[in-house]
Amino acid sequence: MSDATDHRPRAGELEGQADHTAHALDELLRCNRCGFCVSVCPTYRATLNELFVARGRNFLADRLLRGESLAEDDYAEPVFQCLLCGACQVVCRSSVKTDEVMVAARHRHWCNRGRPALLRFFFDHLLPNPRLLRRVVRLVGLGKRTGLSSLARSLGLLRWINVRLEAADALVESIPRSFLRDRLHRLGFRRTEVGATAAWVLPRPKGTAGPRLVYFIGCGTDLQLPEAGEAALRVLNAGGCELVVPEHLCCGLPPFSYGDLDAARLLATRNLEILSHFQADGIVTDCGSCAAFLSRYGELLGPSGEAFSAKVFDFAEVAVNLPLPRLRSSLRVTYHDPCHLVRGKSVRDEPREVLRRCGYELIELPEADWCCGGAGTYNIMHPQLSLSVLERKMRNIGTTGAPVVATSCPACIIQLSYGVRRFGPKVEVLHVAQLVARALAD
Ligand code: SF4
Ligand code: SF4
Repeated sequence: MSDATDHRPRAGELEGQADHTAHALDELLRCNRCGFCVSVCPTYRATLNELFVARGRNFLADRLLRGESLAEDDYAEPVFQCLLCGACQVVCRSSVKTDEVMVAARHRHWCNRGRPALLRFFFDHLLPNPRLLRRVVRLVGLGKRTGLSSLARSLGLLRWINVRLEAADALVESIPRSFLRDRLHRLGFRRTEVGATAAWVLPRPKGTAGPRLVYFIGCGTDLQLPEAGEAALRVLNAGGCELVVPEHLCCGLPPFSYGDLDAARLLATRNLEILSHFQADGIVTDCGSCAAFLSRYGELLGPSGEAFSAKVFDFAEVAVNLPLPRLRSSLRVTYHDPCHLVRGKSVRDEPREVLRRCGYELIELPEADWCCGGAGTYNIMHPQLSLSVLERKMRNIGTTGAPVVATSCPACIIQLSYGVRRFGPKVEVLHVAQLVARALAD
């Protein structure tokens, strides 16, 4: 056993492993290898490799989950390079949830082989500790601002340490000097203590009577795209909502996607404890991936999670029911559907409706719901395949001729912005909330 891995089962792991394996094997029973999924799988289109589509992946996962002894080289790339985009399930006549099968297969992989030290640090120490996470990101920002990271990249140092470091550095152009949580005070929020926890509260504007909402700040919005979060908070408050921002943790999607189910469950449990201190009409977030994953807390945590999940909304689901501002002159915009939001939470019409009502001319994007290749940290872990998927998306954006592409997930915004720098076309990439805020200021 390498000292960089830890094979010991953690609390609940064996039980969780059995549940997920049984569920995945049930799904796999329905895969008849028909191959309909080939037509929509972005990784198959990029590789033309039979193992990089649901049919091939399910074949490998079936053997892995049944306990066959497979060499890591025979299954790890197809299993870990699935985007979990869910596109295959939509065309699959048996509705096989290949994304869930892949999560179970990844979980089995870690149980068999142990989690690497970096994964343990990230999921067990960094994500449950937002202060430490923010410190680490500030340090990265300092490296970028002082030119240290560009120097290390041009000298080939980043690649030498780890090719993924180089991919991460290229993907993120800059780190904001202040995060969204640092800006709440400036937006008019006041901090209050609630029992053992605390929250920032922004009252409704005078004369309005909108809902009281808990606002869930995704890590990507807080640390990388605070301006998108600021826009969403302004729009919701202008629409009459009272907003409460608790000191919660990461939603848990990153460890879940890697198959680290215990780490995901731990984050979900702690979030549920923290958020249970606040009475609200709903929980809203500007991150489509967080919205979709928070809506799955029921699957992770049982009945208490189900009650919570039923109250989770994406920004556009709330905004579409508010009085919206209107632009003085129209602007052409196209819209990219984040995978988790459109298939995980079935939010397709609301963002489009919000944009139209604000006076934007919406130009439908070909393959709008195809993954952009961002998929959380997929673009860092699998940069080459991610780039191939992204190139196709950018070509489609170019055909619309729209000067702006809107979307509803910070991970997609980061990836599409990278696509603009890498492949063009020279379009603005914005969150739907930023476009509504633009209409508000017009
Ligand atoms: S995942 Fe569905 S569409 Fe793909 S081979 Fe299996 S049954 Fe057919
Ligand atoms: S989830 Fe997406 S990437 Fe994975 S097999 Fe299905 S279509 Fe392909």
